[in-house]
This record gives sequence, structure tokens and C-alpha cells, in this order.
Amino acid sequence: MNSITSGHFYKNVMKTVEAAGQLIHINPNALERLKTPRRSIILSVPLKTDNGKLLNFPGYRVQHNQTLGPFKGGLRYHPHVNLSESAALASLMTFKNALLGLPLGGAKGGVCVDPNKLSQGELERLTRSFATELGPFIGHDKDIPAPDVGTDSQTMAWILDTYSKEYGYCQTGVVTGKPVEIGGSMGRLSATGLGVVYCIEKALATRDQNISSATIAIQGFGKVGLHAAIEAADLGGKVVAVSDVSGGIFKADGLNLPDLVAYVKENRFISGFPSSEPITNEDLLELKVDVLAPCALDGVITTENAGKIKADIIVEGANGPVSSNATNILYENGKMIIPDILANGGGVVVSYFEWVQDLVWLFWTEEEVRNKLKKIMDASFDSVWHFAKEKNQNMRISAMSVALQRLEKAMKLRGQT
Ligand code: GLU
Repeated sequence: MNSITSGHFYKNVMKTVEAAGQLIHINPNALERLKTPRRSIILSVPLKTDNGKLLNFPGYRVQHNQTLGPFKGGLRYHPHVNLSESAALASLMTFKNALLGLPLGGAKGGVCVDPNKLSQGELERLTRSFATELGPFIGHDKDIPAPDVGTDSQTMAWILDTYSKEYGYCQTGVVTGKPVEIGGSMGRLSATGLGVVYCIEKALATRDQNISSATIAIQGFGKVGLHAAIEAADLGGKVVAVSDVSGGIFKADGLNLPDLVAYVKENRFISGFPSSEPITNEDLLELKVDVLAPCALDGVITTENAGKIKADIIVEGANGPVSSNATNILYENGKMIIPDILANGGGVVVSYFEWVQDLVWLFWTEEEVRNKLKKIMDASFDSVWHFAKEKNQNMRISAMSVALQRLEKAMKLRGQT
């Protein structure tokens, strides 16, 4: 087996793809195409450090599929980034975009680096170097990167600038998740978290429950978890626990989100937040709450801890937080899982809005963005829910099945099968 398909995460995703493919009797040629990425680009990203030393960091961009439109997906800066993980995440983008009905394919990439160990200057030089190496492979009609773990709107601004300089004129559509001042979309920053909350509301509604009577635990307090917590609390949800790399905090009658956000702004991490109990990241996952939203990294719920999960509903804000064997245990225990390709789709939906706005040079209000996002998230949830009911299947297999059906149809029309 080659190094792309040999990773655990890649195998986990493909298990779901195989199972869903079987269920919908997918054309075997369509399935075969989706089992491997179209292109995998391995780069060497040079960085001259502040003390003058040149270091090369491994960089990747995996372009999984472009049947529905240009490749689309984030760039990650993390010490665990590797080819197989990028491929797994790229394939999830293909399925996510298909499920959400976006005219986009799937890609993902990143640099194997710990961004917390770099100065701001080093981060900028690394990003510009990465953008130069990526240059020939990206573009508003080819492949459009966006933020992911360890990257943000500033990273996208540097990529846009580097790419535009090399191109000769301003190319706003080459990346999404940019600052609003340079072609970004209103509402992009909170989009993934907001999408998670729309899914929480829909999932609770299937049990005749309202978010205002629900207890919620959120793992991760970054781009996804932070906004999921704020939006959930805004709608009256009781966010009883959150965590970040420094650990977790718990408060039975709900954390005060505005105070917590102010605290994190000052102290960088959540640990030590007054009027809350410290807990570990592991404890957080095992809390007795209505909704658990793992919004940090992949592989946090495995066969080791799946049996100890007490939440009724698990909403995958991160990509791949629940392994496929853990998924089976959770389903045996009667849990509902809202899978990543649906639950965290809000980010790429608003990326799509941003790309469209950049292409026509006409920008929408935050209210317009939020309304359009809600429509897509609700419709996507409904299509998965109806499939699940009709075929008596779980939400993970159903989400993948709906995505595969759309991809299969498009592939057939394009003569790819
Ligand atoms: N990184 C996000 C994701 O995994 C957003 C991707 C994008 O906006 O292209 O969905």
C-alpha cells in the first residue's frame, strides 16, 4: 500500500466510502476514481529563520477530485501534517462539498511545522515561501485554499499578496477566509461554528428538544469551537464545558461566554478562568451532556473511550474526530452522530460565498451571509436525515451516501465512469 492510502485516518474515511458505496450500489468505476486523489503535490518549503539559518519544512497539497468544480479546501500548519492525513482531509472536502451542493471539488494541504514555535516574521516568510511553491497549482479557477488548523485570515492575506505579486495583478479569488478588508466575506470567521450550531439545533429538533434547554460541551476553542460556543450561548444553549490545549473548564449552570472570550484575549488560553472547575480534555469528552461537539483535531474518540461517552448527540465540528470503530460503538450505545462533512460544512459554504463575491466584485451583508448559510445547512441536514429515515441507516453512512450519489451522477454526465 502506498504512503497516501496507508494512514489510519485515510483508511477510516475509505471504510465509510466503501460502506456507503455498497449501500447505494454505486458504479464501481465511480468508486474506484474516488478511492485515490487525482494529484498529490509534495513540496519543500524553505524558511530563513530569525537567526539566519535555512530550514526546509515538508509541505503538501492533495487535490482529491474536481468533478463538481475547482479543487477547494484548507491549509493546515501542524507538526502532524503528512501526505496521508492531507489526502484523507482532501477526500473529506470532496464529499463535504458534494453533500452541501457546492460547485467545488476537494483538496487539502499544509506544512508540517509547529506554528507556535515561529515568530510572526518567520510565519510570514514561511507562508510566502509556501505560496510561491504552491503558485503553479492554485488559482481562482483551479484550486482555492482556505484556513484550517494553525492558519488564519492573516495567512490567507500573505498567500493572496504573494500570489498576486507573481501574477502581476490582484487575485482576490485565489484564497478564501481572507480579512474582509481585502476581499473576504462578512461572517466567514464565525461560519464553521455557526454551521455547527445550526446542526445542533436540527439534531435536537429530531428529539423534540430546543437548544435553550440543552447542555453542551465543546472540545477546542479555536476557529470552530470558539464561535460554536458563542453562537450556541447566544441562542440560549447552556455551554457547560470548553477546552483548548491548556486543558478544559466546567461550570454546571453554564459558562459566561463574553467573560471567557475576554479572558482568553488577555491570557491566550482558557485554563485558570475564574468561577469554573478545571477538567482535562478527556474528562470533557465523557461529560453527561445533551450535546458533545469535538471541534479540535481528528481521532479524539476511539475504541478506548467511545464506551465512556455519555452525550446523546455528538456533532463533529472537527474533521474526523470519531474513528470508524468508535462510530460503531457509539451507534450500538444509541448515540446520534452528526458527521463532519455535514456538521463543519459552514466554513466552506461561506468560503464558496466569498469566492462568488470575489468573482463578481459585489459584497453581501453579514445578515445575507447568515441567512444563506442557514438555508444550505438546514437543507443539507434534511437531505441526510431523510435518507437515514428512508433507508434506516445512521447519519454518517447517509451523509456519505448523499454525497456519493451526487458525485456519481456528475461523473456519469461528464463521461468519467
Ligand atoms: N478548512 C475548512 C474545512 O475543513 C474550510 C475549507 C474551505 O473553506 O475551503 O472545511
